[in-house]
Amino acid sequence: MAARRRPRSAVPRRVATLSVHTSPLDQPGAGDAGGMNVYVVEVSRRLAERGIAVDVFTRATSSDLPPVVEMSPGVTVRHVSAGPFEGLGKEELPAQLCAFTAAVLREEAQHEPGHYDVVHSHYWLSGQVGWLARDRWSVPLIHTAHTLAKVKNAALATGDRPEPRARVIGEEQVVAEADRLVANTDDEAHQLVEHYGADLRRTLVVPPGVDLDRFTPGDRTAARHRLGIADDAVVLLFVGRIQPLKAPDLLLEAAARMLADDPALRDRLQVHVVGAPSGTGLQAPRQLEQLAAELGIADLVRFLPPVHAERLAEHYRAADVAVVPSHNESFGLVALEAQACGTPVVAAAVGGLRTAVRDGVSGVLVEGRDPADYAAAIRAVLARRELLSAGARRHAASFSWERTVDSLVAAYTAAAEEMAMASQGPAPGTLLRPAWALGGVRALGA
Ligand code: UDP
Repeated sequence: MAARRRPRSAVPRRVATLSVHTSPLDQPGAGDAGGMNVYVVEVSRRLAERGIAVDVFTRATSSDLPPVVEMSPGVTVRHVSAGPFEGLGKEELPAQLCAFTAAVLREEAQHEPGHYDVVHSHYWLSGQVGWLARDRWSVPLIHTAHTLAKVKNAALATGDRPEPRARVIGEEQVVAEADRLVANTDDEAHQLVEHYGADLRRTLVVPPGVDLDRFTPGDRTAARHRLGIADDAVVLLFVGRIQPLKAPDLLLEAAARMLADDPALRDRLQVHVVGAPSGTGLQAPRQLEQLAAELGIADLVRFLPPVHAERLAEHYRAADVAVVPSHNESFGLVALEAQACGTPVVAAAVGGLRTAVRDGVSGVLVEGRDPADYAAAIRAVLARRELLSAGARRHAASFSWERTVDSLVAAYTAAAEEMAMASQGPAPGTLLRPAWALGGVRALGA
């Protein structure tokens, strides 16, 4: 079917955001809900504040969900019926993409042609839907991968299943089709280019942000009192979905090592794990509880269910160190949030964590996966906590969702201009303005 066209201005007025497998209304920290959900919420809200309306399409996972929910002014969540509401795993969703796409196209067809100016897809499943929507609506497709199968498979945790070939192929297709690929870091952009053959000129580095009004240093003593933590406790904090990739087990092993080296710590050391299980493998907290018992530290470990951001900020403030020992992270928002609260981070020297944490300034990056190295890094941070806390606050302050949105709007606009010019054919002597020449959007390696 021929695409419908209309003359359009390059600055978008309405964005179709696709988030097939997880809803921005879900509580992050469990199941499929994590950093991507936070990203979609923060970006959508700010786009709407700038007068750019956002419709977020996500799969309905319960019959109780209303078809349309206003998440915040100007941001509408549209629940799409695609497959059974419950009991469908993420790995089964590729079979529902046709139903999902049909529903998105039907929704748009109820409006005047040109209802959406841009499609922004999150994760490869949404990229597949966005690809068709882009062709049908003649609008640019902006894609953010969030994670990449080839990268994940190269750093698999024990007990984690490799991502299937179908996903790799699906990602390659989206990379080839998208008008802009948004990477969180230079590292991710290089991965897109090297492993997926992404076009350098269409690959942009747009760092995510952190809400500096919500994640503030605050009063550590008061936070501890509110959470029932003793003033002299040494608190090591893990926040996130409990899954092999995130490796909370490594933190427990490091804590046990710290106790073996310094038995006097036993009265004060605490490990707090905030989050709930996700995916396959480490079906914690039960397995983690078992590990803690085997390591003889069961009495020191507290498992806490996922909490809202306000409460989470209290946990960050109350902690001495946040530990992010992931096998891989495309960014690692938790690390940034902890630093914004003035808590230094010990993190794996992998992926986006190398950007999210400034080694020796806002925390310590650890090469390899030896618990003894993590124990040493935690001790080093504890010894210089005040200095690193100041560094952490400074580092976090260099990120902001406003800047993320500046760059995204510039990318939307540049892609729309390019599409408009391509459809008209360039005027004699006209040079196409490359996306990387726009302010706020850095090209790979620039
Ligand atoms: N999170 C939350 N409550 C919790 C645990 C986590 O709101 O109890 C949020 C956290 O604030 C962060 C996100 O979940 O923004 C996790 O993002 P991250 O990039 O660290 O990891 P991902 O889930 O994307 O792998």
